[in-house]
This record gives sequence, C-alpha cells and structure tokens, in this order.
Amino acid sequence: MKPLTIATCITLSTLVISCTNAPKVSTEKTTDNAATMPVEVTYADSIVDNKKDPTCGMPVTAGISDTMHYNHKVLGFCSAECKAEFAQDAAKNIASVAWK
Ligand SMILES: [Zn+2]
Repeated sequence: MKPLTIATCITLSTLVISCTNAPKVSTEKTTDNAATMPVEVTYADSIVDNKKDPTCGMPVTAGISDTMHYNHKVLGFCSAECKAEFAQDAAKNIASVAWK
C-alpha cells in the first residue's frame, strides 16, 4: 500500500502545480497580444497631396491620423474630428486646401 500512496501524492502535487501554472501562462499571452496591438493608425505624410490639415492648419508632417479621398486627391487630417468637419462641406472646404 505504501508505494501506491506515494504515487498518489506525486500525481496530486503534479496536478496542483500544473493547475497553478496554467492561468499564469494565459495571462502572459494576453499581455503580449495587447502590447503588440497598434493603439492608433498613422499615415506617412508622403501618401497625401495636401501640405496642411485644411481644418486646423496643422502641417501634415506633424502626424496624420485620418485620410480622405476627394477628386482623385488624398487629403491627410490630424484627427478624425478634423476630417469630419471638413467632410460636412467638402465642396467649399476643398478651396482652402494647400496642395503640395
Ligand atoms: Zn486637424
């Protein structure tokens, strides 16, 4: 009976160890995935045809968060808010765009 008891003890402690290890591994994986996820999509200023955000006047070289296609041109905006404001009256606002 004694060898069987020892074997049972080893099996039980192995189960306990594998149980306590499992959640740790999955937590690390979740953290890694979150760290590699892009927080904000940005565009290179070379892909747009305007020099400045036509809504707020910020240079596109300072960073583009959103783009818009208009009359075969690509417009870059510093934020989705600027793009939305421009889009409300794009036909009129397009006249104030500083093209490259
Ligand atoms: Zn802007």
